[in-house]
Amino acid sequence: MLSYPIHIGADAREKLGSFLRNSDYSQILVLADNHTYDLCYPKLRDYLPVHEAIHIPAGEKFKTLETCVGVWSKMTDMAMDRKAIVVNLGGGVIGDMGGMIASLYKRGIDFVQVPTTLLSQVDASVGSKLGVDFMQYKNHIGLFNDPQGVYIWPGFLNTLSDRELASGFAEVIKHHLIADQAGWEGLKEIRDLRKLDYTQIIEHSVAIKQRIVEEDPFEKGARKSLNFGHTIGHAIESMRLETEAPLLHGEAISIGMICEAFLSREAGLLDTKALVSIIELISHHYPSTNFSAGEFDDIIARALNDKKNEGKKIMCTFIDGIGQFKVNQEISDGDIEESLEFYNDMAKGY
Ligand code: NAD
Repeated sequence: MLSYPIHIGADAREKLGSFLRNSDYSQILVLADNHTYDLCYPKLRDYLPVHEAIHIPAGEKFKTLETCVGVWSKMTDMAMDRKAIVVNLGGGVIGDMGGMIASLYKRGIDFVQVPTTLLSQVDASVGSKLGVDFMQYKNHIGLFNDPQGVYIWPGFLNTLSDRELASGFAEVIKHHLIADQAGWEGLKEIRDLRKLDYTQIIEHSVAIKQRIVEEDPFEKGARKSLNFGHTIGHAIESMRLETEAPLLHGEAISIGMICEAFLSREAGLLDTKALVSIIELISHHYPSTNFSAGEFDDIIARALNDKKNEGKKIMCTFIDGIGQFKVNQEISDGDIEESLEFYNDMAKGY
């Protein structure tokens, strides 16, 4: 069992308010980014007891130790003590970084996650992985630590852009590919992401993630299934982050899922029909990208430094048919190159 409650639904804000009112915190600090401060905080503030709110610049490029230092300085100026709590109001960047900020401040104070993007509502806010990017590596510095609770109000999604909504949907696709073959049939038919019952989608994804995290909290085995699409996807994401055309997390992961599904087929685990159905769904929701030979090398170099690797071996999760997975699959740089070539050829065809 997870040690913290996850509340999903229309009354999540009321539940957060009563949790805070019934606790004995010395101070409550809402941490937002500049978008969630403008768009989400006005929808939350009246539910909270007396608190202060601060915001940092939005975006993955601010998911850094430098930003943490700025927030720690403000918390110190505000004389926050060890009985204070941080309310992380934002997407995966605020959740991961705000959780780490709280976990290290004065050796650790409480925090709650109030995710506001689809990606963070279906994935990042559950599972206790916290951290920041470092040098060119994603989530390179961080820790595991539990929040006091996760409060998911789907109403926040109304202001999210179509692109961000699709980015979050990549993790929904992933959850089906590793754990729900029956659900995949329905998912394949989805065409318009604006017309979905998100409470149901979030509950479904959170239940899958929660089950896997409970089985393997520190990623020794089954939890690696959640990395499907992420070995190659993370390398693509961090490579593109340094260019004029960055990809959102889910956009990069959707490409990673095509590449890793291709490698699953090459390993004899997935049939071509299933691979084609994955490509069709992803191609419907995400624009295609083309990678140059130089980018291939960069992606491979980054995959070689992935924190999921063991020694010099690049480790990956394959899908063993739709709805099942196989962790600890070693892939070579040649495999990555071949999968990217496959992706480039496929992207030309769609
Ligand atoms: P994000 O936090 O950068 O949010 C995306 C953008 O949407 C930002 O500009 C943000 O200001 C804006 N935004 C947030 N909520 C909004 C709303 N309701 N309306 C309008 N705009 C809103 O990114 P993300 O996609 O939520 O998360 C990506 C991050 O999550 C990555 O850093 C990734 O590494 C991390 N992640 C962590 C885990 C985990 O297990 N800890 C899992 C998956 C991803």
